[in-house]
Amino acid sequence: MTTKSIKWSEVMQNNYGTPAIEISRGEGAYLWDQKGKKYLDFLGGISTNLLGQAHPTVSKAVKKQIDELGHVSNLYAHPQGLALAKKLQRLVGDTSAKVFFCNSGTEANEAAIKLSRLTGRKKIVSTLGSFHGRTIGSLSITGQEGKRIAFKPLLNDVKFVPYGDLKSLSKAVNRRTAMVIVEAIQGENGVVVPPVGYLKGIREICDRTGALFVIDAVQTGMGRTGNWFGYESEGVVPDVITLAKGLGAGLPLGAMITVGSKAPAFKPGEHGSTFGGNPVACAAANAAIDYITSRNVLDEVKIRSQELIKALEPLEGVSDVRGSGLLLGIVLDNEIANQLAQLCATHGLLVNAPNSHVIRIAPPLIIKKKQVNEFVKIFSTALKEAIDV
Ligand code: PLP
Repeated sequence: MTTKSIKWSEVMQNNYGTPAIEISRGEGAYLWDQKGKKYLDFLGGISTNLLGQAHPTVSKAVKKQIDELGHVSNLYAHPQGLALAKKLQRLVGDTSAKVFFCNSGTEANEAAIKLSRLTGRKKIVSTLGSFHGRTIGSLSITGQEGKRIAFKPLLNDVKFVPYGDLKSLSKAVNRRTAMVIVEAIQGENGVVVPPVGYLKGIREICDRTGALFVIDAVQTGMGRTGNWFGYESEGVVPDVITLAKGLGAGLPLGAMITVGSKAPAFKPGEHGSTFGGNPVACAAANAAIDYITSRNVLDEVKIRSQELIKALEPLEGVSDVRGSGLLLGIVLDNEIANQLAQLCATHGLLVNAPNSHVIRIAPPLIIKKKQVNEFVKIFSTALKEAIDV
């Protein structure tokens, strides 16, 4: 399809600004723009395209499903949704876990907020720098003032504490707290990793006060960190897990999952979504999970991660490489991340700058050593250029 004559600014809201690149095709970890320029995609639809673009396993499952049954609404059960819920029970390690399907991360967190109200408590404790979504509820628990300011008043009874600081969290949480929500790694805030023991400490605080422990695994779930869920490295089990991004392997799908017996359950009529858990999106998720499991993709994720860290850490201009698995933040000595991301794109590499001194990478989980080498080559060239400017 040619869209040469359509100008973004004439047809789109300006909430994203005008994108510099128009992507028209993808295969594996590569994308092509309208002019035929090729890019190595180290952002993966912002931590979303688990198996990259046009993966034969996902494509086949999606095509088969759309030919058989495209959509049924939430009035009926369907095999792909049931099968996916069963798989998620296995992945979270609780055969009595209960799943609510939606379409996005913000909806998964909205569901968690509503569920927490059923405890009879209203207070929510979240962390500064966190990102939980753009709808009013999720925005209310997002700890970034710049994103909130124009939309006040937001929900009352939300307290923000510094991320990684157990003392402050312990002070803020009490027997009136409905839920504590955290990310295992703050992705949007620049891939910020909390101190070891942080999630364990939150588990203890929630156990002591009766507050629900909600982990927003929207960005750190579905194998991104080298484990199925980012929190696994601490050996904790939350009461509620929210998922999206990678879950649909490129299709829109979110989930809120209750684990164990502490979280209340929705009763009929208390929550819903027309498209949530759509058969085609669930078919993509089922195919991707089966592929990752049968090919031991998570072992590969860990190996690629080490290769990247080893190559990036010694580069001049890089002060730290943080994160886990294939969610890495390259911390720069200087505030040149935006210019650097643009230079990378000029050289045919897509990454992003969540803030002025960090480059985030979140490539498809199926990248090989060859793509790591290609990434390092382009990235170091662009970094040199950015420093020399
Ligand atoms: N939670 C986290 C941790 C995220 O990183 C994001 C998106 O970046 C969201 C929630 C919101 O997800 P969505 O954009 O699918 O609504």
